[in-house]
Amino acid sequence: MKLYAENILLKDGWAAKQTITIEQGVITAIEAGMIAGAEIAKGAVIPGMVNCHSHAFQRAFAGFSEQGSEGQDSFWTWRKIMYQFLAQLTDVDAKNIAKQLYIEMLKMGYTRVAEFHYLHHDIDGSTYDSNTSDGSTSKAISSKGSSANLATMAQAIFTAAKESGIGLTLLPVLYQHGGFGEKAPNDGQKRFINSTKQFNQLVSDCFALSEQYSNTNVGIAPHSLRAVDKASLISAVAHVRSLDKQAPIHIHISEQQKEVDDCLQHYGKRPVQWLLDNIELDKFWCLIHATHIDEAERKGIIAKQAIAGICPTTEANLGDGIFPTTEFLAEQGTIAIGSDSHISVNPIEELRWLEYAQRLIKQQRAILASDEQASVGQNLWQQAAQGGAQSTNSNTGCLAVGKQADLLVLDSDKTKLFANANQHLLDSMIFASQQNPVTDVMVNGVWQIRAQQHAEQEQASDNFAKLLVRLSAS
Ligand SMILES: [Zn+2]
Repeated sequence: MKLYAENILLKDGWAAKQTITIEQGVITAIEAGMIAGAEIAKGAVIPGMVNCHSHAFQRAFAGFSEQGSEGQDSFWTWRKIMYQFLAQLTDVDAKNIAKQLYIEMLKMGYTRVAEFHYLHHDIDGSTYDSNTSDGSTSKAISSKGSSANLATMAQAIFTAAKESGIGLTLLPVLYQHGGFGEKAPNDGQKRFINSTKQFNQLVSDCFALSEQYSNTNVGIAPHSLRAVDKASLISAVAHVRSLDKQAPIHIHISEQQKEVDDCLQHYGKRPVQWLLDNIELDKFWCLIHATHIDEAERKGIIAKQAIAGICPTTEANLGDGIFPTTEFLAEQGTIAIGSDSHISVNPIEELRWLEYAQRLIKQQRAILASDEQASVGQNLWQQAAQGGAQSTNSNTGCLAVGKQADLLVLDSDKTKLFANANQHLLDSMIFASQQNPVTDVMVNGVWQIRAQQHAEQEQASDNFAKLLVRLSAS
């Protein structure tokens, strides 16, 4: 198909009056002028955003953990509520939650998601059985041996991605311990736990599944240094790299000061420093949060070309802290953004908070611009989209010949109400617009959102609302 845009944000900047040709999901030509037969975009065209960090099931309890208890709430009390919530979820629930969430993501301009997937097992902690993983609520049988279907929950995620149309990078999570020093996991964590051997099998199973779903790929996510020991980490990395040398590897790290303190006590090093000293990082590693890092750690991440996966609204909601974004970007670090707990599902809000947190602590304005790009909004959108593409090892993140056609059309009826010359357009979108300006969304060459609507939105939201009623009643 051909799409004509009055204005389009290409890899090298804005271009006027261009027609792009898309074949089998890929942009094969970009030509000046309107070519006969081209569809006319209803506003400016920009690259879709990559969401580098999602735990889909957490969407189901967004809003459930905001009741204060005399200043005693923290990340750790939130986590307790989260564990109570997920203890009730079946594989069918997991699919329904993810489908609703992914439709919401598409509407707001996320065209690909890295799913940090750690809800693996049945409600009682046993592995799912291969005979019952047909989409019905599976009956758990312990010690199933070869009949276990380790990828039942992963399949729910693949199905949700397919039905919503979002691109997916599935990251099965290795989770083994309840804390540093191989502490036994607690009851709330039993659905996450795999032996290293079982985990590596799950990863292989997910690679095989990915073959059946277009626009998907697979990496791994060792959960954190507190949940995975060194030997298991090395084994899991070796296994996934034997399947794909460029497989994305994501890890939660240095999100909380307590985690840094515990790591210092156990390893004698801060978490990122330990990782830098013990594991060969590269540009396919994405360090999620990396909130509490010192200067040496910051420079170490950049030297390895690893990515910082920042989740500004979740980090604010959980009271985590503020990533040193100003210094990291000034030193040419690569960032991506994620919606993590889904307290917000909106890349505009993530980028707004990313900049505002820096303004508030530095008492300055327009901080996250660059020498080449004076527009904070444009600089952040392009850097986060391209960093997100790197973090998912996907052919996305910018619009150019040879890139996948993951793009957004901004509604000119909305953008015309704000400063809308090209140099101001993404600034207005990120800092000034109160309504979603994204009207049409294309993923891999297919329109998934037209005029802010998704073909399956009603069925998805009905299923999700019913599930919420059931969960809040129990
Ligand atoms: Zn997370």
